[in-house]
Amino acid sequence: MSKDERYDVVIVGGGPNGVTAAAYLAKSGLSVCVLEERPELLGGCENVEVVPGVRIDPHMTFMYAGAAPGFEQLELWKYGFRMAWHQMQPDGTPAALIWTSDGPVTPTLKDLDGSLRLQGAHPDNTYWKDLLRAVYWCPPHPSEVEITADNVPYMQVIKQNAPEMYTEELLEMSQFDLMDEYLETESYKVAQGIIAWYSGASPEWQGVGIPAYAGAANFSVATGLSISRGGAHTYGHAVVRCALAHGAVMRTSCPVDEIIIREGRAVGVRLRDDSAFAEKTIWANKAVLANVEIKHLFQDLIGPKHVDVGFMQRIRDISLKGSSIYVSHFLLSKPPLVRPKFKNPDQGDKRLFFGGCGPCDSRELYFEHIMDINGRKSFPSMPPEKVPWIMVPHEEDDSRVRRPDSYLLSPFYVIVPPPEYLVEGPESMHREKDKWDTYMRKALGTVVENLEDDLIGQWSNPPWESEHRNWGLLGGGWYTTRHCSDQWFETRPLPELSRYRVPSIDGLYLCHQSSGHPGGLFLMAIPYNLMHILIEDGLVEPGDWWYPSPWYIPQEGKISAVPR
Ligand SMILES: Cc1cc2nc3c(=O)[nH]c(=O)nc-3n(C[C@H](O)[C@H](O)[C@H](O)COP(=O)(O)OP(=O)(O)OC[C@H]3O[C@@H](n4cnc5c(N)ncnc54)[C@H](O)[C@@H]3O)c2cc1C
Repeated sequence: MSKDERYDVVIVGGGPNGVTAAAYLAKSGLSVCVLEERPELLGGCENVEVVPGVRIDPHMTFMYAGAAPGFEQLELWKYGFRMAWHQMQPDGTPAALIWTSDGPVTPTLKDLDGSLRLQGAHPDNTYWKDLLRAVYWCPPHPSEVEITADNVPYMQVIKQNAPEMYTEELLEMSQFDLMDEYLETESYKVAQGIIAWYSGASPEWQGVGIPAYAGAANFSVATGLSISRGGAHTYGHAVVRCALAHGAVMRTSCPVDEIIIREGRAVGVRLRDDSAFAEKTIWANKAVLANVEIKHLFQDLIGPKHVDVGFMQRIRDISLKGSSIYVSHFLLSKPPLVRPKFKNPDQGDKRLFFGGCGPCDSRELYFEHIMDINGRKSFPSMPPEKVPWIMVPHEEDDSRVRRPDSYLLSPFYVIVPPPEYLVEGPESMHREKDKWDTYMRKALGTVVENLEDDLIGQWSNPPWESEHRNWGLLGGGWYTTRHCSDQWFETRPLPELSRYRVPSIDGLYLCHQSSGHPGGLFLMAIPYNLMHILIEDGLVEPGDWWYPSPWYIPQEGKISAVPR
């Protein structure tokens, strides 16, 4: 019989949040073991070679984490992290196109000025890093603290840096309310709203106007429309290297079947019988971290024995909040060209297409799409030339396409209903993939003239496939649940779980996009926020490299995460 394996911390799931937590804890001197079900680590940071010499991202592409303290704290540059900055072309061609059905959108000076002010990125007053950190990289306040305008982190940052913008009403406003005050061109506002919607919060949702704007800002301000070199998978590799360098152990093909709970305390995990590692029980001296989707965690790995039946029902009821993403990838044999009417007026005859967002004709068009997603929940009723979509700018990252005469348009996103809510049934999108793929090709073909003629290949992952690929991407969306006010800060995913602890089970902590503020996209946010809580519980004492969020409020009776 093999001897017992014992670690200070066992992490269930090797997704980006799991391995980042491992890096933080191993750097703090703890022994850590990550157990991943799949044959490779990094969950949604997957990168796939669809044909030799062409690599795509089925899930994560954009780097939304430019403001994350983790880059400094984990020193990721030492472990190979590099950005593929997407810049304006030398001739001034913009990074991406924003358009309406009639042609490109040209923002006015007031639009640009207002937009930069709302992002904290105006050249006269730049504080975007503080603002984004306050929105995402700060743990929710303890439950005994009443949330008021005076202690919401982003409200404090705005009050301090832009008092002329500050009003308590910011807490009630939607992104459209903010844009109606600060911008002027309808189609530009719609573009910002679509970008925010794709980044977590819908522009019409009350009470999350600043988080919606900040989500969109992460997409551009912090990283200049950027992507890590080689895709998100190589970002993930840098984190894994960091964790390994500090002594963490990572085991793949090791699905966890059960979290072992004794006398109300998580003490280890049991692996599934067919796992690759012979020792089937792994003990945790200090804590078990769950980097798995919240419903799977409670329903399968913890089970009804250890939680109240009413609580379990509330876990089942956590809503997918209406939307998911259909991802497509297109390979062309010639450079992609925009149709003449979409050509940038400043670019002479040039018609090269780099990606973009549209059609942004009007709010009505946007709401029509929302009706399809939240109301009809079926195959789009809108004609493909009207459906809003986003496509990443054609990258200058030669680690993606390494074969001649091949031009990648990838990823191309359209928001669709989550499979679980489709009226025709969860698998219908997957069954009718050809129909959906044709729709997506027609949508992109509205702008890209030579898509059909020069197409070498088209690949796609409908949300049903996304969620089954990595077992964690519930609903196949970027977030699992979205940034509406009942899934934000101290209410996510349920108020009693918002500080990453499980009240009825000591030693068990939540570390998955579905189980904590701020959810998906904002890399390293959950592990960084969780570190505050693990320090509070006396489980970890990081070195001098650690700094907490300036807006963090310690829980009474616990050890403060602010170094003495
Ligand atoms: C289509 C799509 C596009 C996206 N685009 C972006 C983007 O551009 N930028 C961005 O930042 N984010 C993007 N995301 C979101 C991003 O993928 C997620 O936020 C991220 O993957 C969440 O990380 P995680 O570690 O919380 O969970 P996951 O990535 O879900 O990782 C969880 C891990 O746990 C493993 N696991 C599950 N059950 C068990 C078990 N019982 N035992 C052991 N292991 C288990 C899974 O196999 C998985 O590896 C996108 C997501 C999707 C679906």
